[in-house]
Amino acid sequence: MQFRELNLSQDILTAVDELGFTEMTEIQEKSIPLMLEGRDLVGRSNTGTGKTAAFGLPAVESITEADRDKVAVLILCPTRELALQAYEEIRKFAKYKRIVKPCAVYGGASMEKQIFQLKRGANIVIGTPGRIMDHMRRRTLKLASLRCVILDEADEMLNMGFREDIETILSEAPAERQTVLFSATMPAAIMAITENYQRDPVHIKIKSAQKTVELIEQYYFEVAMGRKTDALRLLLTAYAPSSSMVFCNTRAMVDQLTEELQKYGFRAAGLHGDMKQAQRTQVMNSFKNKATDILVATDVAARGIDVSGIDCVFNYDLPQDNEYYIHRIGRTGRAGRAGTAYTLISGRRQLHELRDIAKYINAEITELPLPDRDGIIAARKEACVRDIAAMEAVHSAYDVIDRLAAAGIDCREAAARLISRTLQADIDSIPEFEKPRPLRSRRGSSANTVKVDINIGRNRRIAPNFILGALVDATGMSGKDFGKIDIFDDHTTVEIPAAESDYIIESTNPMKINGQQVTVKLWDGSSSRKTGKAFQSRQRPADKPSFDRKKKAYGSRARSEVFSDYIPDRKKRTKKRH
Ligand code: ADP
Ligand code: MG
Repeated sequence: MQFRELNLSQDILTAVDELGFTEMTEIQEKSIPLMLEGRDLVGRSNTGTGKTAAFGLPAVESITEADRDKVAVLILCPTRELALQAYEEIRKFAKYKRIVKPCAVYGGASMEKQIFQLKRGANIVIGTPGRIMDHMRRRTLKLASLRCVILDEADEMLNMGFREDIETILSEAPAERQTVLFSATMPAAIMAITENYQRDPVHIKIKSAQKTVELIEQYYFEVAMGRKTDALRLLLTAYAPSSSMVFCNTRAMVDQLTEELQKYGFRAAGLHGDMKQAQRTQVMNSFKNKATDILVATDVAARGIDVSGIDCVFNYDLPQDNEYYIHRIGRTGRAGRAGTAYTLISGRRQLHELRDIAKYINAEITELPLPDRDGIIAARKEACVRDIAAMEAVHSAYDVIDRLAAAGIDCREAAARLISRTLQADIDSIPEFEKPRPLRSRRGSSANTVKVDINIGRNRRIAPNFILGALVDATGMSGKDFGKIDIFDDHTTVEIPAAESDYIIESTNPMKINGQQVTVKLWDGSSSRKTGKAFQSRQRPADKPSFDRKKKAYGSRARSEVFSDYIPDRKKRTKKRH
């Protein structure tokens, strides 16, 4: 359905048309008519599906002459960036409707300026709950004439601790009002708000998670521990995206990585919650107008950020939450365009976490080899051809060519010299990079097992599930990967796949079990330390879950079956290759 088919005034349709919107997204199609009717709504729809217009257009449409100089619509957003973004979009919707006066209020910006704007007759106020509360307390924002309250990204607002503020705002707003809530998830706290502050709301749920994510090609790279920054430089050099985002989990990492990238000549800028508002706005603007190519950000700072034309997203750190992964990669491939997401992983644990993410979003995340030097040089040459083909020569340059010719240097030679200078700069910036060791063993040999010896045993009250838990923790492998656990008085042996032994020993030293530092060594089978009868793992009571699985896998079955979970895996991999 098209916007034109809606009962919107011409002023707004013209503005929408100018923005290049014709077809409505699903959430818009469902919620705009209901909002125009004045119904209360609960909308659930993924990021990048056009929720701002879904509530912004009806909000702008609803403003009439009667709302002059009175706050009629209040929009709550979780962060300053989102408030500013919604404000800017609403301003565009209202471009031809003079009576609409939107105003953004958020923390970290000048209070005086906001008061001035509110006093100038703002009728749509967009802001963060904290700052809105500030203005309410100062009586610079009055809710008496409010007709509609909109909560955007309500779940995130609750996550950020705005629950009380939101409830205060909702209870101070006139009872006769429309309440509209958008949220990605519906935790109990949101349900409670819905119940207490909405009237007979219509629930709209758009199942578009897959749709948004499906348009994004997703890849991952295995990178040796501690080499992610170099790998990222390599990828940025090879792919040379004109606009990209890099996600880190901590503010410190954002700062460190930004600095590192800048040092190597990348036009990168960092964005996180510790920065002053003016600084954040400046970073966002420079990223939007493409003066910054690479935005390095934390999840919270980048939440919901909508910048068009982001070629790709890099997950430098794996997101701590599956939903964050969707939010992150949703920064590329906005509004139906294609995009690419690359994730860097180090260590087996991250590989497993990434597999969980892939399962959760039901998408394929494909492994790619890191580009090598030759590949990068080839890519840079290609870019050179593209760039030069798109360039225009300034006429005054031709006399230089004539003079060069007089000096015995023909055009071909002159061009080659110039091109190699450009290429050399690119080649010099390729980080030295040895190929990381593959994380997965060759499955062919994994049916062979060896034992490792851990210098902790029964006399330290150790149980098999402690041992298994510590091993799983240190290696990131699955519990199923480990075999029989024999606990002796002062040491323990564990059966492990032979092909993984180096990796296991490397990643378990040092390791703590039950608070005690232990050493893990390859077991040479010497029985000198074998004091007393081995405590066979399969004799453990059934109430030890992590151990139970072992019991099932190892019980009395033949050795060849023991690693059955490796074997199908290998088959799958071989099949894929053919
Ligand atoms: P959400 O809040 O759901 O994450 P946004 O409101 O930020 O999504 O919109 C995502 C992008 O899609 C914005 O750039 C917006 O301008 C654009 N957009 C929204 N609706 C449409 C539409 N009907 N047609 C084309 N683009 C749209
Ligand atoms: Mg949004």
